[in-house]
Amino acid sequence: MAEFPPVKPARRTERIEYAVRDIVLTAEEAARRGRELLFLNIGDPIQYDFYTPRPLVEAACKAMFENLTGYSASAGVDEALEAIRREARRRGIEPVDIFITTGASEAIDFALTALVNSGDNVLVPFPGYPLYTAILAKLEAEARPYYLREEEGWQPDPEEIASRVNERTRGIVLINPNNPTGAVFSREVLAAIAEVARRHRLVIFSDEIYDKLVFDEDEHVSIAALAPDVPVVTFNGLSKCYLAPGFRIGWGIVSGPAEALRDYVEAIHKLARARLSTSHPKQYAIPVALEGDQAHLPPVVEKLRRRRDLTYKMLNEIPGISCVKPRGAFYAFPRIEVPGVSDREFVRELILETGVVVVHGSGFGQLPGTAHFRVVFLPPEEVLARAFERLADFAGRFFKR
Ligand code: PLP
Repeated sequence: MAEFPPVKPARRTERIEYAVRDIVLTAEEAARRGRELLFLNIGDPIQYDFYTPRPLVEAACKAMFENLTGYSASAGVDEALEAIRREARRRGIEPVDIFITTGASEAIDFALTALVNSGDNVLVPFPGYPLYTAILAKLEAEARPYYLREEEGWQPDPEEIASRVNERTRGIVLINPNNPTGAVFSREVLAAIAEVARRHRLVIFSDEIYDKLVFDEDEHVSIAALAPDVPVVTFNGLSKCYLAPGFRIGWGIVSGPAEALRDYVEAIHKLARARLSTSHPKQYAIPVALEGDQAHLPPVVEKLRRRRDLTYKMLNEIPGISCVKPRGAFYAFPRIEVPGVSDREFVRELILETGVVVVHGSGFGQLPGTAHFRVVFLPPEEVLARAFERLADFAGRFFKR
């Protein structure tokens, strides 16, 4: 028999990049060279010194022992849906619909897939979490960037967003608190973005997966609460604030004009039914997370605040690097100020020479002509300090080359 010809992947996968995971290959190369790796690249608290709150684990285990191990209803179990509904109302959102998914990731996939046709576009933040551009690439739709800038403290500019809208634009993605910049968006900016969506008849996708990880005096505001007349899908889940990313439990909350949203909501449910259900037993952790003891949260926020402070201080002490203070989530997005430096090259060399693993800024998109990298400040302070010392030493050499 003739040799089997190469199995050609679909063209739609060609534009899919996921820098956060791709960087692992460089890290493996560094490990082979004998470097001690310090991981400042993984947005998973469980990889560091954080633990899933016990009541969540117990609720999932209890459900398993009670044989709640069949498929659930496709949108999720009632007691979890009701807990999410009450939580939404506490945040000023009146849900039209709720669907529980395999992580917020699947909710984002459903919400985009149910809306955009090939050739449509959605406005996405650059820098931004790369899942949105990956899903849009899969849908043969355009991820149309709007840029976030340090000068604005990484707040989005509603006028720029409006200027990016064209006849094929269907929605606007917001990530608040933000990955990778750590920004928390102000009420004024959110109200102005809602006005853009209202004027241009767009759906807002508001990713609020870090909503309870806010460090300073900012209040986290859900845009859906400011714009009850605008179609909004708000994403959240157990991965970040409830320290259970491996549970793979998330959800989407649809709010806005119920009548206008009817067909769209039905399309989302078709997608949910087609994949049967998300993990059944783990959904029982949702009511416990949202309405049980929140005692884990203040110490987590305090621990992250200290790590944020150290990160902000040490990064800004490095000549050639500057960093806006992150105000939420667990990421910083420092800028390489030395002209002509490629962030990819900087990060690759950094990993290979020092074992400090960060992700290049272009993996998240960035304003053309700027160079950044993303730091995860989940590791303990002594690890962060060691990493930033190595980084300072490396930058001193790299910038002189
Ligand atoms: N949205 C943002 C902004 C994220 O940073 C992440 C994970 O890093 C996700 C969604 C994925 O969440 P989940 O684990 O619930 O799928």
